[in-house]
Amino acid sequence: MHTHTGDCTCNTTHAPDSRRRFLKIAALGGGAMLLGVPALREARAAGGIEALLLNCMDYRLTDDTTRYMDGRGLTNNYDQIILAGAGLGALTEQKPDWNQTFWDHIDVAKQLHNIKRVIVMDHRDCGAYKVFLGLDLKDDPVKETAVHTEILVKLGGMIREKHPDLEVELLLMALDGSVQKIG
Ligand SMILES: [Zn+2]
Repeated sequence: MHTHTGDCTCNTTHAPDSRRRFLKIAALGGGAMLLGVPALREARAAGGIEALLLNCMDYRLTDDTTRYMDGRGLTNNYDQIILAGAGLGALTEQKPDWNQTFWDHIDVAKQLHNIKRVIVMDHRDCGAYKVFLGLDLKDDPVKETAVHTEILVKLGGMIREKHPDLEVELLLMALDGSVQKIG
């Protein structure tokens, strides 16, 4: 007896493999149904979700970012795109493919989830600002705020111009997880 493969052309019914696949799918579906996850997700998708969040990849703030969004009551109610530098990643001429990726994700988030707003969240002591702009700003918080404000306000203007139907929120997170509004 030979071993059946995915593209096997023999006439034998591949019962053992099919059954395994079915059981795997049943287990996944059953678990999700138990939690009511599909129903919740479908309802949100039908009416739309709140936002698309753009934030930086920085490992120090992943938990703070999720906590912040949870704290606003937005748990599982936003799409998320991550680019190093957040607003700067979406704007920098050094990464045109990142720029395009950002704009594409707004389109997809609107199309799939009918988002109402775009939230752009930069953060202090951002390595991308050193890499792309050559600026180490962590010892000068006033200048740091000013530089982030310039980038965020510029990107915010571009988002509003391309998508006048979307609200735009510009934020700056500190390393302790606190968040201030910009612009
Ligand atoms: Zn960063």
